[in-house]
Amino acid sequence: MDSCIFCKIAKHTIQSKIVFEGERVIAFEDLNPQAPTHILVIPKKHISTLNDTLPEDRDLLGEVVLTATEIARDRQIHSSGYRLVCNTNRGAGQAVFHVHFHLLGGRSLAWPPG
Ligand code: AMP
Ligand code: ZN
Repeated sequence: MDSCIFCKIAKHTIQSKIVFEGERVIAFEDLNPQAPTHILVIPKKHISTLNDTLPEDRDLLGEVVLTATEIARDRQIHSSGYRLVCNTNRGAGQAVFHVHFHLLGGRSLAWPPG
């Protein structure tokens, strides 16, 4: 999708700090980190929100989640704890309408979230 900032990151038409890239999934540092580790893991395919996922996206979403767990392991936050968050629609704080999972860790994270 031409106007989507995360599609542009996936296509390398705008710069980001990429930490992982596969055929269908890419992960990069959040521009405005909220924790020592704050990485966004996204499918390269444009999907606006989790509500727009299709049965055919099942494997793709699984790959996104598994990629996040691998990055958590690489960053040594898998034992101390991390959070994987996918804000869906404005009421939950979604600002970029391309499905993305925030991988947050490296500090203690309060619950419930705000
Ligand atoms: P959300 O509020 O869940 O839609 O999260 C969007 C996230 O994208 C925010 O944490 C932003 O800091 C982050 N973000 C926006 N633009 C960029 C960018 N160009 N590169 C990296 N992260 C970005
Ligand atoms: Zn997109």
